[in-house]
Amino acid sequence: MERGDGKVKKKNNVTQMPAPNASLVRRTLWLMLLFVVVTFAILIGRLYQLQIVDREKYKTAAVEQQLRETTLTASRGTIYDANMQILAMSAGVSTVFISPAELVKYEETDMKAMITSRLSEILDVDYDTIWAKWDRTSSWYETVAYKVEPDVADEVVKLKNEYDLKSVHVSPDSKRYYPNGSLASQIVGFVGRDNNGLEGIEAVYDEELQGENGRIVRVTAENGVDLIYTGYENYYDATDGKSLVLTVDSNVQHYLEKNLSQAIDDYQLENGAMGIVMNVKTGAILGMTSLPNYDPNNYQSLNEETLAELNAQELSDEDYNAAVTNALLKQWRNRPISDTYEPGSTFKIMTLAMGLEEGVITENDTFYCGGNMEVKGRTDPLWCWNHAGHGTQNLAQAAQHSCNVAFVNMGLRIGAKKFYDYIEAFGFFGRTGIDLYGESTGVWWSHDVFEDPQNFSQLASASFGQTFNITPIQLITAVSAVANGGYLMQPYIVSKVLDNEGNVVENHEPKALRQVISEDTSRRVCAILESVVGTKEGTGKNAYVAGYRVAGKTGTAENVTREVQTGMKSYWVSFIGFAPADDPQVAVLVVLDSPSLSSGIYISGGGMAAPVVGRIMADVLPYLGVEQVFDSEEAANADVKVPAEKGRSIADARQELEDKGFTVRVVGDGSVVTDQAPMANVSIAAGSSVILYAGSDKPSDTVEVPALNGMSYAQAKARLEVEGLFIRSVGAAPSTSWNIVVSGQAVTAGSEVAYGSVIQVTLIDNDSSVAGEGFHG
Ligand SMILES: [Zn+2]
Repeated sequence: MERGDGKVKKKNNVTQMPAPNASLVRRTLWLMLLFVVVTFAILIGRLYQLQIVDREKYKTAAVEQQLRETTLTASRGTIYDANMQILAMSAGVSTVFISPAELVKYEETDMKAMITSRLSEILDVDYDTIWAKWDRTSSWYETVAYKVEPDVADEVVKLKNEYDLKSVHVSPDSKRYYPNGSLASQIVGFVGRDNNGLEGIEAVYDEELQGENGRIVRVTAENGVDLIYTGYENYYDATDGKSLVLTVDSNVQHYLEKNLSQAIDDYQLENGAMGIVMNVKTGAILGMTSLPNYDPNNYQSLNEETLAELNAQELSDEDYNAAVTNALLKQWRNRPISDTYEPGSTFKIMTLAMGLEEGVITENDTFYCGGNMEVKGRTDPLWCWNHAGHGTQNLAQAAQHSCNVAFVNMGLRIGAKKFYDYIEAFGFFGRTGIDLYGESTGVWWSHDVFEDPQNFSQLASASFGQTFNITPIQLITAVSAVANGGYLMQPYIVSKVLDNEGNVVENHEPKALRQVISEDTSRRVCAILESVVGTKEGTGKNAYVAGYRVAGKTGTAENVTREVQTGMKSYWVSFIGFAPADDPQVAVLVVLDSPSLSSGIYISGGGMAAPVVGRIMADVLPYLGVEQVFDSEEAANADVKVPAEKGRSIADARQELEDKGFTVRVVGDGSVVTDQAPMANVSIAAGSSVILYAGSDKPSDTVEVPALNGMSYAQAKARLEVEGLFIRSVGAAPSTSWNIVVSGQAVTAGSEVAYGSVIQVTLIDNDSSVAGEGFHG
C-alpha cells in the first residue's frame, strides 16, 4: 500500500505506539477488543450456521428440499439536530455474494469465468479475488462486495436474470450517510460495516437506533427454486430502529467550528482547539467539538491537515503506522469530555462563588497585591502573574485583573475543607453523566493532602486554578450552575427518542442535580464577571461584543503533558463566557491547545481565546434571538449595512449613503448607478468609502486577501482598501490606538476573493499590562 492515503499499512505491528499515554492505550485496546469480539461473533455465527443449522438442513434434505434464510435488515433510525436537520441517516444498499456450492450444483462449469469477469467489471472488484472464492466449493455464502449502491446492484440483478444464475445473490443491507460530513462528527460518531455504532451517539444509543432484523425462512426445492407459495415460508417482520433528536443545533455547531478553525490558523495552534456551547438553564449541549475532526462517511481516513503533516515527516513504516493510529484515535475522540487540562484562572469563578456564598468575602473588601506572598507550607513566595503587583483592589478589580494574590487570600478565607466540599458539589470529582462514552473525571489532590493543616500550598494554587486537572465539560457545567442561580444541571445531548412514525416515545427533560450556591450569590458573581469583560481594565475585554452583555473569565496555563512530549514550552489558553449577564442563556468555553510562540499575539487567554468566544457570541446570540442594546459609543462604532443602490440616480444614492455616514466614490460618468461595491445588504465599518459605478464595469477579477495580523485597525482598513476590499470588525472597539490590533481574519491571507468583498477581522487590545495573566512568546 502506498504511503499517503492515511490508512495504516498492513504490517504486523500496527498497534505499537511510541510513548503512548494511558487513555490512548486503553482506547486502542478497547477498539482492538471490539474488533476481535465482532470478528469472532461473525465467525462463530458462521460456524454455527454451517455445522449445526446446515447439518439439520442436510438431515431434512431427505425430502429433497432445503431451508434457506434471508435476513430482512431493520432500517437504522435517523439522527436529527434540534431543528430536525438530518445528521445521520440510512439508505438501502446491497450485499453481493456468490454461492460456490450452488455453482457446483446448478451452473455449467464454464459459466464460472463469465460470471467472475462480469462481476469484476460491474463491482470493480479484482478478478482473481473473486475467482479464488469459487474454490470454497462447499460454501453457500462468499461476499464479493458490501454496501453496493442501488444502480450497481441493479446491474448485478440484470446479469443474474439474463442467465438465470443460481450462484449469484443480491441481499438488502443499509448504509449510513452523514449529509453534513465532518460537522459535529465526534458527537454523532459512526457505525462499522455491520451497522453497529462504534463511536459517539451512534454507539451510546446503538440499541435504540438499530431496531431488530427480521427474516424469511423458506423452503427451497432440490432444483434451487424457492417454494415460497407452499405454505412452508415463515416471515418475521423487521422492526425499524428509533430515531433521535439531539440538543445540538447545526447552526450553533457551525459557528463554533468555524471560529475554532479560524483560531487554529490565526494562532498556529500546534495541538488543535476545543469548544462547547451550552444552554445555561438546561445543560443542553448546543454545540461541541474538538478540531481537527473527521468525516464520519470516511471515518478511517485522516483529515487532510493531519495527513499532510504526517507525510511531511521522515518516519519508518512502523512509526508511520503508529502515528496514523494515534491520529485516528485523536480525531475520533471527543476531547471536551475525555481530555483533562489545567483550567488556570477560569477557575477563579469557582473561588469567587464559594467566597461570596460563605460570606467570607464581599464586594466592599479590598485585596492588596505586592506581586507575591508567603504561603504556609511553601518554601518560596507565591507570585502573582503580574510581578509588579496590582496594589490595592476591590473584589471586582481583583477579578478584572485576575490577580493571583487576591484569589489566594480568598481561598485561605474559605479554608481547605469548605473549598474541597464545594469542588465536589460543583461536580469536579466525578463525571457529569453526559450521554456520551469516554468521559473522564478530574485529577485532584487527595482529601488528606489538600486539607493538611501544616501546608496550604495546594489550597493556594487551587484558588487560582492550578495543580489539578479537569475536563472542559466539567468546567462549563459548573460555571453554568454559577450563572443560572446555582443549579447544577446534568449536561445532555439527546432530547427526544422517536418511533418510526415520528411519535415521541421518550422525552429527556433537563435534570437539576442540586443547588450549589444561592440565587443571590449567582447574581453577584454574574455582575463581577460582566465587569471582567465590560471594563477597560478587564482581562476579558477582548470577548466584548457590542450590544451584548457578555460575562466571563480568561485562563492561561502551562500544558505540562505536551511540554514533556515535545520538549517545548506549551500553553493552554482559554476563555469561558456567558450572556446576557443579567439573564444568562448560553455559555461558551473555548480551549486553545499550544499556540505557536511566534504568532505575534501575546500568549494569553485574554489575548487569544477571549476574542474567539466574542466572535462565537456575536454569531450565536443574534441567531438565538437575543436582542442587541447599544450605548451611544457602541452605536457610533457599529458596522452599517450598505443599502441597494442599483438603478437609482447617482445623486439620490449619494445622499442615502452619506446620511448613513459613508463616504462615496463614483466610477464612470453616467447618471444612474449600474453597480456598487460592496454588494447591497452587507455590513461594513462605519465611515467606509462605498463605490458607485455609473456605466463603468466593476472589476471582475479576484483579489488576493492580504495578511493583516498584528496591524492596527487603521492600517488594516487602508491595506484592504488598496485591494478594493472592505473591513468589518469584531472584538475590541475599532479605534486609532496602536494597542488595538488585528488578531485574526475570517478569510485566510492568500485566499482569492471577489473585488469589493468584505473581510471580517478580530480586533484585540494587545496591551500586555492588562492582557491578563499570560506569557510573552
Ligand atoms: Zn496581583
